[in-house]
Amino acid sequence: MNKTKYIFITGGVVSSLGKGIAAASIAALLEARGLNITMQKLDPYINVDPGTMNPFQHGEVFVTDDGAETDLDLGHYERFTSISLTKKNNLTSGQVYDSVINNERKGLYLGKTVQVIPHITDEIKKRIMEASDGKDVAIIEIGGTVGDIESLPFLEAIRQFQLDKGRENVLYVHLTLVPFIKTADELKTKPTQHSVKELRAIGIEPSIIICRADRVLPQDIRAKIALFCNVEADAVITAKDEESIYDVPLALHEEGLDSKIIGYLNIWAKSPDLSEWEKISDTLKTLKNSVTIGVVGKYVYLKESYKSLNESLIHGGIANNLTVNIKYINSEDFEGDDWKERLMEFDGCSGILVPGGFGSRGINGMIKAINYARINNIPYFGICLGMQLMTIEYARNALGLKDANSYEFDEITPDPVISIMEDQKDIGNMGGTMRLGAYPCIISKNTLAGQAYLKNSKKYLINKKNSVKVSHDGNIMISERHRHRFEFNNKYREIFKSSGFVFSGVSPDDKLIEICELKDHPWFVGCQFHPEFKSSPLSPHPLFKEFISAAVKYFNGSGALKTKSKKQKNAPHINNKKKNFTV
Ligand code: GLN
Repeated sequence: MNKTKYIFITGGVVSSLGKGIAAASIAALLEARGLNITMQKLDPYINVDPGTMNPFQHGEVFVTDDGAETDLDLGHYERFTSISLTKKNNLTSGQVYDSVINNERKGLYLGKTVQVIPHITDEIKKRIMEASDGKDVAIIEIGGTVGDIESLPFLEAIRQFQLDKGRENVLYVHLTLVPFIKTADELKTKPTQHSVKELRAIGIEPSIIICRADRVLPQDIRAKIALFCNVEADAVITAKDEESIYDVPLALHEEGLDSKIIGYLNIWAKSPDLSEWEKISDTLKTLKNSVTIGVVGKYVYLKESYKSLNESLIHGGIANNLTVNIKYINSEDFEGDDWKERLMEFDGCSGILVPGGFGSRGINGMIKAINYARINNIPYFGICLGMQLMTIEYARNALGLKDANSYEFDEITPDPVISIMEDQKDIGNMGGTMRLGAYPCIISKNTLAGQAYLKNSKKYLINKKNSVKVSHDGNIMISERHRHRFEFNNKYREIFKSSGFVFSGVSPDDKLIEICELKDHPWFVGCQFHPEFKSSPLSPHPLFKEFISAAVKYFNGSGALKTKSKKQKNAPHINNKKKNFTV
C-alpha cells in the first residue's frame, strides 16, 4: 500500500467514554489484519506536554522510548499494539502554537497576518503527516469532546484533511453515549443526534458511530441513529460496557467495526488473527484465584495517576493465571502517631508496591510501609521513587544511617544515599534535569531481576518493542524507560553491598544503579526505571510477573490460595501486632 489512510476519532456527549480504548482497539484490530499502523493523540490544551501537569488533574504521564512525556492514552495505544510511539505521536495546542509563534518570529510567514486558519491548521496537518509517514493506516484521536472551544482548530484541521487527501483515504469515527433512562425504560438517542449535529455543523461527517451503552443496541435504535445521523445502519456500532478493557477489541470486531473500516477506506487486508486476544479474554473469564497487592502512594484518590501500573499488575496476574486486586493505601495515613494501627490497612495484601512520585509528601509513610515489607518478608516492589525509598529505608534501619535521605527531600542530609553526583550528571545529557526515556541496563544473571527476565523473556519479547539480550558471559542487557531526576549515590555502594544489599542492574558504564534487591528476602526488588511502560496483556513485564508470583507464594505460605468467592475471608492476614517493627 503506498498511500496512508487516516482514521480520525472524535468523542461527543460526555468525556470518559473510553475514546482512547476505542482508538487502541481499532489499532489492535487493524494490526491483527497485518496492517502497518501508527497512532497519534491530539490534545487541545495549551501545555506543551503533560510533563508539568499535576497527576491529580491529568492522570499519569506516559513516557516513550525517546523520552517524550505524553498523555496516558499513548499507554493504551502501546498496550494494545506492538508499536513504539515517539514525541511525534502526541500533539498539543501548546506545541502547535509554540512552533507557529517561533516561525512568525523568524519571519517565515513573510509578513502575513498569522491566523488560526490557515497557519495553525496547516501546522496541525503537517504534524499529522509527519507522525504517519510511511504507515498504512494512522489512527488519530482528538482529545476532549466535540463542542469544546479548545478543540476547534484541531477539528477544522481534520475537516480539511479529507479535502486534501480524498474521501477514500480519510474516515471519521465518532464515539458517543446512548444512555438507558430507567424511569422511561428506554435507550435514548438524542444526545448522539445532537453531538453528531454539532460535528456536521463544522463540516465533519462521521461515517461510523460507536455508541457506548450498557447493553447491545437493538435494531430499531441503530436504525434511528443511522437515519438521524446520516450513516449506514451497520455503521452504528455498540460499544457495550465490558468487564475488561482487553475484551473491547474482540467486542468491536464482533460488531463488524474493522470490516466496516477497511470497506470504507478501500483497504485490502487479510482477515484478522485475533487468537492472542481470544486467549487473553478467555483467561480473564476463567480466572478463579486472586491476590491483593497494596499500592502505597500519594495519588491514590485518582486511579488514572497510576494507569500503566494498574494495567501492569493485571498483566502480571494474567501471566500467573489469577486476578490481581489492587488496594490503594494513602502513604500519608502512616505519618501520624497512630501509624501502627493504620498498618491494618495491609490486611489481605500479599505484596506491597511503592510506585513512582515526586515531592516530599507522604514519603515517611512510604518508608514505613517498605520497612514493614522488609522486616516481615512480604514481597516488595519499588518503582523509581519506590526504589529510592527502598535504599533510604535500608540505610536508616539496617545500616544505621539514621538521617539518610534523598537530596530531593533534604538538601542538607549527612547521608544523601539518593543524590546526583558530578560524574553521573553528563550521562544521557540529563544535566540537572530529568533522565527521560529508554536507557540500557546490564543485569547480573544470578539475581531475582536477572532470573525474572531470563525466565519470562520469550513472552515479553512477543512485543517487538521490548528488548532482552543475553551476552556471552550470561549477563542480560535490557532497555527500560526512565523519568526521574535523582540517582543512587555511588559513595554508598560498598557499605550497602557489604551488608547483603545487591545491585543487580547497572548502566553499561557502571555509573548508575538501575535495579537493586535484597539477598535474604523472598522478593524485595526496586528498579530506577518504570517497567510499567513496557508491559502489555500479550507480553506481561517479567518484573511484574515475578512480583505477583512471589505474592502468590507468600499467600500460599500463609494459607491455601482460595477461590474468588472465598478469597476475602481467607486472604492472608498481615497482622502487624505479631510482627516486628524497627521504624
Ligand atoms: N522524585 C524522584 C526523582 O526525581 C523519583 C521520580 C519517579 O518516581 N518517577 O528522582
